Amino acid sequence: SLTLGIVGLPNVGKSTLFNALTRNDVLAANYPFATIEPNVGVVELPDSRLDRLSEIFGSERILPATVSFVDIAGIVKGASEGEGMGNQFLANIREADAICQVVRVFADDDVVHVDGRVDPRADIEVIETELILADMQTLEKALPRLEKDARKNKDLAALVDAAKNAQEILDSGRTLFSEKDSFDLSSVRELHLLTAKPFLYVFNADESVLTDEGRKDELRVAVAPADAVFLDAKVESELLELDDEDAMELLESIGQHEAGLHQLARAGFHTLGLQTYLTAGPKESRAWTIRQGDTAPKAAGVIHTDFEKGFIKAEIVSFDDLDAAGSMNDAKAAGKVRMEGKDYVMADGDVVEFRFNV
Ligand code: GDP
Repeated sequence: SLTLGIVGLPNVGKSTLFNALTRNDVLAANYPFATIEPNVGVVELPDSRLDRLSEIFGSERILPATVSFVDIAGIVKGASEGEGMGNQFLANIREADAICQVVRVFADDDVVHVDGRVDPRADIEVIETELILADMQTLEKALPRLEKDARKNKDLAALVDAAKNAQEILDSGRTLFSEKDSFDLSSVRELHLLTAKPFLYVFNADESVLTDEGRKDELRVAVAPADAVFLDAKVESELLELDDEDAMELLESIGQHEAGLHQLARAGFHTLGLQTYLTAGPKESRAWTIRQGDTAPKAAGVIHTDFEKGFIKAEIVSFDDLDAAGSMNDAKAAGKVRMEGKDYVMADGDVVEFRFNV
């Protein structure tokens, strides 16, 4: 499954956040046969629609979708020069599908900042710079060979052009992802560039920032088009010790209405380009993970490869229509249940039953 790699400078709260992610681990409970890697934290994607579906269908259990985060050892300035952990760090990032940077915004004189001051933008730049330098090296190595091959194989001309465009962006100090609206990231996919991966920022903040909408907007704008999540990592780890009511009280005491881990799960899911569809029955109500833009047979394949191969039709009702109707029969009577074929592109909130040949 797709993963987000957690990176950040030392002492920004990565371990604190990661511990909260792993202690919240849902794999062990819901998927007893899954292998659990020590450096992977899996969080549930909160979805209240599943509660409603299990009510309608009398489901025995609920299985939400999950998002996986991988803990990547701390970056040091100079990683792109291959110093110390540098090479390993970059290799680990290369394996992740998206980059999730934890950025310190909390003030605490007892926690030393590596550069002696709390400056989120400067911290973001340190990491970006290492990734940009690594991509520039990759392109410097790849381009001469690509240009040579392109003389024999005309199909490679487009890739050479894309690589040169990428070089220009990187030379100007920007990541490729930050230019995603004007630069087609898929045009350089086979070069596996680090800054072409989607980015997500987690601002580890205290109450003063969490309740300051203006300050949060400033930071959001600074990292756009990447998503931004604001949470207090220390509070998140404390929440897991509490029952729901006490947890809500603690969150509200710092001006929050929802656990930061929930927000992080949603943002992570979005950053990875994923979406869910739903199935429901007496056994379980469940969310299944697909890529945005997937067709019905692709979606069926997530349940079982045979469902994709033998796909005939998908019987689909949107969650809102089913919710309003109150039962599948009433939704059918109201003409809200559709039959969709193999070209249908799945929409968020589709409640589905697949028809297939075995
Ligand atoms: P890492 O080096 O990025 O993994 O950072 P750690 O998670 O080890 O955190 C470094 C220190 O900062 C620890 O003493 C944490 O208790 C503290 N810390 C982490 N998150 C917060 C936070 O949100 N607020 C405050 N005040 N301290 C935090």
